Amino acid sequence: MRVKDPLFVYDMQLDDEGMITNIFWADGKGRADYEVFGDVVTFDTTFRTNKYDRPFAPLLRINNHGQTIVFGVALLYQENVESFVWLFQTFIGVMNGKHPTTILNDQSAAMAKAIMIALPTTHHRLCIWHIYQNAAKHLAHVFSGMRSFAIAFQQVIYDYEDEASFLEAWENLLEKYNLRENPWLLKLFEERKKWAMVYGRHIFCGNMMSTQRSKSFNSVLRNYLTSKLGVARFFEQFERVLADRRYAELQEDYKMMDQSISSKELCLILRQMVQLYTPSIFQKLKDEYGKILYVMVELLSEENTLKTYKAVHVDASCYASLVTFDCSTETIECSCKKFEFCGIPCMHMLRVLDVNQKFMLPDKYIMKRWTRKARDMDTCIFVSTTAEEDPRVAKNKRYMDMCHRYQKLISEASEYEEAYKEVVRHYFVLDGKVKDIVKMSHLGKEEYLSTIDISNQNSSHDYHGARGLAIKCKARCGGRSVKRIKGPLEQSKKKKKPTPVSDTFFFNWF
Ligand SMILES: [Zn+2]
Repeated sequence: MRVKDPLFVYDMQLDDEGMITNIFWADGKGRADYEVFGDVVTFDTTFRTNKYDRPFAPLLRINNHGQTIVFGVALLYQENVESFVWLFQTFIGVMNGKHPTTILNDQSAAMAKAIMIALPTTHHRLCIWHIYQNAAKHLAHVFSGMRSFAIAFQQVIYDYEDEASFLEAWENLLEKYNLRENPWLLKLFEERKKWAMVYGRHIFCGNMMSTQRSKSFNSVLRNYLTSKLGVARFFEQFERVLADRRYAELQEDYKMMDQSISSKELCLILRQMVQLYTPSIFQKLKDEYGKILYVMVELLSEENTLKTYKAVHVDASCYASLVTFDCSTETIECSCKKFEFCGIPCMHMLRVLDVNQKFMLPDKYIMKRWTRKARDMDTCIFVSTTAEEDPRVAKNKRYMDMCHRYQKLISEASEYEEAYKEVVRHYFVLDGKVKDIVKMSHLGKEEYLSTIDISNQNSSHDYHGARGLAIKCKARCGGRSVKRIKGPLEQSKKKKKPTPVSDTFFFNWF
């Protein structure tokens, strides 16, 4: 892989017998994507390789088109604290020390502990889909039989903006359905800060509350990795998965560039947005803007330049949001925190801007990661390094910066013969200039070579002694391959219809 991709890195652990236990790898594209879209990571270990019965766990996220992208992948031996700590630390090391804002996964005590150790500044959120699977199992007597319980349970997860109201609703739920002693709910309540929106709506999550992305990616993997593949064939097949998905990304980029933006029939703020955002994100914004006709606002107070409004949607008049707007700084905040949570302004903010005759969205509310130019580097802004900085770190920064810029250039140029020839022509000019600079800097041959061997610094361990992949007892003893364990909601799918769940139930956009 390294021959094809100089930014490809891997790391692995060996046991006392020299057998490989945990493996992690990431390629140049995954690392470059993490720089731009590595704000939230979903991590799911439910996909298993047939032959070795190992959790195969990709670290995923979505790009500015709403497509799933892969940052890196782990093949784990065991799902214990040590394995997860090793994985997260390796991941962060490979990604230049950048920690994600949020990590989303299922309820696993080992993973929770590992996140506290290896990602102490990252917010850990639990997947709502998994919580519902567990609720169906542990609260079957009320969950499947009473529609009102499902609604009340959904409300405590999503609806409250202040802690006191949430706690009151929780108490009412326990009381009404006689669940005060239920051990699963007691445990769930202990972890409330990881799943109740009241504790997380101010933290950026890209509007995702479940790991359904990982689940759908797993079903894609199942199409490619169905047979009992050996390690080499497994990696080969996985490369095909990545290549196919990345081609789809490229197609989306080109589709976006080719699309003529017609904005004649749009109002001013939508004209601004259609130019800025990718088509899929623009559609979300347009939908949100469409709701402002149904938002009633009432001016509660006005002090100097600061106005405070109460905003109520006509279909949900029991929920009021408070919006503050400072016209001197064009700062606007809403208590629903949708902007903070998903990076697009909410209907309440848009309505208040509208009543104040502000027909353009202030720059500070345009999140670059959702825009057409998410991957664009700021022109001629060089990465900053200091004299005190570790030379290897500084070198790596420069290397990654150039890779981002040239990867995009090469992707675009490869589509057209003339553009390709232009890049190749300039390559020789650049190559000569770089060689001159190197010569003038009096770098010795050995030192020069070290500058181009950056890609190896993250995986410089000597693995020549590795004797092979450690095989778990079940697989070693010829046990049957382990299929993914289905959740209770999935198991009951064929027997009877599950409790209806609306499209917006998981609060995911895509
Ligand atoms: Zn709002």
